[in-house]
Amino acid sequence: MSDHHMAPAGPDAVGRSVEAAEVRRFWQGLGLPGLVDVHTHFMPERVLRKVWDYFDALGPLTGGVEWPITYRAEEDERTVLLREFGVRAFTAMLYPHKPGMAQWLNGWAVDFARRTPDCLHTSTLFPEPGAEAYVRRAVEEGARVFKAHVQVGAYDPADELLDGVWGLLAEAQVPVVIHCGSGPAPGKHTGPGPIARVLARHPRLRLVVAHMGMPEYEDFLDLAERYDEVRLDTTMAFTDFSERLAPFPRRALPRLAGLGDRILLGSDFPNIPYPYVHQLRALERLELGDGWLRGVCHDNAARLFAAA
Ligand SMILES: [Zn+2]
Repeated sequence: MSDHHMAPAGPDAVGRSVEAAEVRRFWQGLGLPGLVDVHTHFMPERVLRKVWDYFDALGPLTGGVEWPITYRAEEDERTVLLREFGVRAFTAMLYPHKPGMAQWLNGWAVDFARRTPDCLHTSTLFPEPGAEAYVRRAVEEGARVFKAHVQVGAYDPADELLDGVWGLLAEAQVPVVIHCGSGPAPGKHTGPGPIARVLARHPRLRLVVAHMGMPEYEDFLDLAERYDEVRLDTTMAFTDFSERLAPFPRRALPRLAGLGDRILLGSDFPNIPYPYVHQLRALERLELGDGWLRGVCHDNAARLFAAA
């Protein structure tokens, strides 16, 4: 995979500083102090390499669409770049694909959060015996947000092994960013049905539906309108890349305005096939106004996490 590695410093470094300046101009123009990005990926190096291998091989899953990773760099370079962009708080979205892995990931995440003060301490979970105990411990250790990945984990979020976990997180008011839509490829338990069952039992659970629920956008908007604590992250939604695969329905735009205080900037950095600023421009071109952008790009998450 050496041909995929980032180009050495030089023209590339110049390109990055030009990009950072463009990102900063975006939030400065809105009068914001910076951005809060609730959906960025940091995980143990070995796991991240596997994720990148997955995206490298993704063509067949997305009907032949290539997914070149724009920010394939070392961990410290990636955190530096987020800071250059003016991202004041971000997350370390990590997730297990099998049982017995979540606790190990959570241990790594504690350490990452300690050495990365602008990262909101992130934890994860899996339906398995003991999940409630390690989730409780993570909350006690200061986890600010959880990540759950229904497609990669291939589990039913309404599995009774998670019932106590959801109850605990609802009570602690700790948000859970959950990849539960059927994009970029459906899983056995993706889609709004299983999530509706979870929310029926735990209506105060602070679920943040990743990727705006792509491609089942309107079904997840229904859930957000029904449950006050449900939020959506913008991750990859509205970009040229996603509009080609799973266009957001124009008729639903007024609903985004109505939910303006519960939509949160997410980017999927570093695993994105385009520059970071494109996500911001994709939000801007929805033409929902500067007030909406201020909420989405900073204020809503700053309020939710009392951060940044
Ligand atoms: Zn992601």
